[in-house]
Amino acid sequence: MVSAVRTKKKILVLGSTGSIGRQALSLAAAMPDRLEIFGLAAHSNVGLLLEQARVFHPQAIGLVNEEAGTELRERARSELDPLDCAIYQGAEGIEELAATTEADLALCCMLGTGGLRPTLAALRSGKDIALANKETLVAAGELVTREARSYGVRLLPVDSEHSALFQCLQGELPEAVKRVILTASGGPFLHTSPEDLCRVTVEQALSHPTWRMGNKISVDSATLMNKGLEIIEAHHLFGVGVDRIEVLVHPQSIIHSMVEFVDGSVKAQMGVPDMRLPILYALFYPERVENSEVPGLDLRQTSRLTFQEPDVNRFPCLRLAREALKLGGTMPAVMNAANEAAVGRFIEGNSGFMDIPNTIKQVMKLHDPIFDPSMAQILEADAWARRQAATCGKSGVTHV
Ligand code: MG
Repeated sequence: MVSAVRTKKKILVLGSTGSIGRQALSLAAAMPDRLEIFGLAAHSNVGLLLEQARVFHPQAIGLVNEEAGTELRERARSELDPLDCAIYQGAEGIEELAATTEADLALCCMLGTGGLRPTLAALRSGKDIALANKETLVAAGELVTREARSYGVRLLPVDSEHSALFQCLQGELPEAVKRVILTASGGPFLHTSPEDLCRVTVEQALSHPTWRMGNKISVDSATLMNKGLEIIEAHHLFGVGVDRIEVLVHPQSIIHSMVEFVDGSVKAQMGVPDMRLPILYALFYPERVENSEVPGLDLRQTSRLTFQEPDVNRFPCLRLAREALKLGGTMPAVMNAANEAAVGRFIEGNSGFMDIPNTIKQVMKLHDPIFDPSMAQILEADAWARRQAATCGKSGVTHV
């Protein structure tokens, strides 16, 4: 039974100008009686953050980038109608915003490792976390899940696959789970030959067949590293061993993931491929909220649902991510940072598509993992991996 008194949720959006942040705010605009925005933080987009602040009137706003933060401060105060809110800038400023701004829940959707500290700051201030930033669990999964337990806050997955698993696992006992099956769209190069994969362009890599996403995650989907990162996330979120996490290519992206139980029963979660569905579920969990923003699923309009094994030879990133999780300690953080650096260089046009797995593999080979790392050791390993990735890519090694 849904409770008769429907309270308003106070939300903090860390990463409000990115793809997930903008979609969350479109939901907030459509249900002002259910969602109230208390804080907005982003990386460097001054114009869009100001626009959002004028619509939602948060108590605090901020930008990670120092220069952009200074511009934000000037424009927020000097424009005809000055904004009445606290303004933060710089990485530490955003941590302070995340910790001190009043809210029930923080939607953490900042890009890359930069999202780690603000997420932890929000968590340690007792806010529930709706987690869209993959790197938080990939780089610091053990630390973050341990902290969430000790602060008594919920880690609610926003990633569509993990939201699906989370929904399938409601009411089930951990020992009843035989394996979890992450579905993957397969990305734009599902049928591309190994020779052609070496020559694909940035534009091709960015044109995802079913999901509308930011650049970095689009490239991760094309290399299947996105699914590799999701294996690591699933391990930390649901405590399932790496050997019990499978990946199945499902190009229609209608089944978002599945859980198989010990009795042979399989639960799948379905819906149209639209991130606003998992965002809503995370924001209101355990309540399901009426939603007129996203079209319903009409299976009569859907083509066949197909499934196939992923090809780890053409997409070695999937194998590298499994290896990193098995090796443990700081290795997943290193793998993730090497990937971020290599993807950045590919998007800038400075390296080829297959240089991404090559670089990651080389950097992982050079790393001696530190076990049970502190946040400082994780960030150190991350920075080290980025420096290594910059030199590895230039060595001319082209085979994985
Ligand atoms: Mg996903």
